[in-house]
Amino acid sequence: MGEERELEVSIDQDACTGDGLCVQYAPEVFEFDIDGLAYVKDAEGELLTAEGSHTFVPERRRLDIVNAAHDCPGECIYVRDQADKTPVAGPGAE
Ligand code: SF4
Repeated sequence: MGEERELEVSIDQDACTGDGLCVQYAPEVFEFDIDGLAYVKDAEGELLTAEGSHTFVPERRRLDIVNAAHDCPGECIYVRDQADKTPVAGPGAE
């Protein structure tokens, strides 16, 4: 059993510009739906389109996820520590 910490990742689609930077950084985590906005996917690759959905990403993928959040033009990718919900990147992480 791995004890690796995980990151909790979500997107506020209201602010998403649909440019796709996040999909380029981490296509196994972010994907467009037919509405042209980005959503997160679960570990099985299922797109989570319900409002406020979040997924969990292994800590070893931190760099791609943090870079995506930093470069996101909509500033709408929220990355938090799964355990204590501390903002890691995105809004509130400064
Ligand atoms: S990088 Fe941000 S604004 Fe661009 S598609 Fe992804 S979530 Fe939307």
